[in-house]
Amino acid sequence: MSSRRAKIKGVKDHSADAQNHIELQQEKINIWSQKALHGKHRYHVTQEHINERQSYSWLQDGQFFPETEGFMLAIQDQVIATMNYMKYIIKDTPITDENCRKCHQQKETIDHITSHAKLSLDPSTQLDITLQPRSFTKKLAITNKLIENTDPYYNYTPTSVLENNEYKLYWGVEIHTDKTIPANRPDIVFQSKADKVTYLTDIAIPKDTNIQNAYAGKISKYTELAIEIKRLWKQNKVTIVPLIMSIAGLTPNTFTPHLQQAWTNGYTKYFKRL
Ligand SMILES: [Zn+2]
Repeated sequence: MSSRRAKIKGVKDHSADAQNHIELQQEKINIWSQKALHGKHRYHVTQEHINERQSYSWLQDGQFFPETEGFMLAIQDQVIATMNYMKYIIKDTPITDENCRKCHQQKETIDHITSHAKLSLDPSTQLDITLQPRSFTKKLAITNKLIENTDPYYNYTPTSVLENNEYKLYWGVEIHTDKTIPANRPDIVFQSKADKVTYLTDIAIPKDTNIQNAYAGKISKYTELAIEIKRLWKQNKVTIVPLIMSIAGLTPNTFTPHLQQAWTNGYTKYFKRL
């Protein structure tokens, strides 16, 4: 009898501990959320248009060096030694000029520094580690048997046009149409010949606060081109696929559905964990 009572008591104690633990966790989250600077990331990641689990999938994937992961977390927590941060937060040495050390035009904050790094097809771009157009293009090309190359993606420079009997892939190519359309070079144009469906994929890495604008911007930017391609190439459907991920890794809810929509066959398996 006494041992049974002890057992029940033990269970009760355990559940009480778990309850305390949850309260502590929640308390930690609450305190974090209230921080003016360090809590910004928490605020952004809990917005309705953001997929929180997916935004942190890189922490489980183990594709980055530990230093890179640490650096990402420091960016999320806004604890990077920018001139602005040194002047107003650290305050250990007097800083007279808090302007950007590169352009000297604006205050050196994380948002400002990242605005210097434009995503491009240039392999030297450092910031597109997570959302690397070359990596996407290569996976797409291999999956659809357009190439057999097995080099790491960072050594791979895609050919601008790849084609087989079923698919056609343009990489950073200007699409010529009857009327002049300025926005005529999406990152990747992928066509499924049998379905007569074309996907115009463009990738952007905006600030955390600019994800929705970036998405809408891509749709409006390529709408005219999509209409022209549908007509000229006699397609059943032309879909614009904006793949957006913020500089701190925030991933909008639109990301995975777009991948699944654009990249059929085995390609989605690659991203299954997302
Ligand atoms: Zn600058």
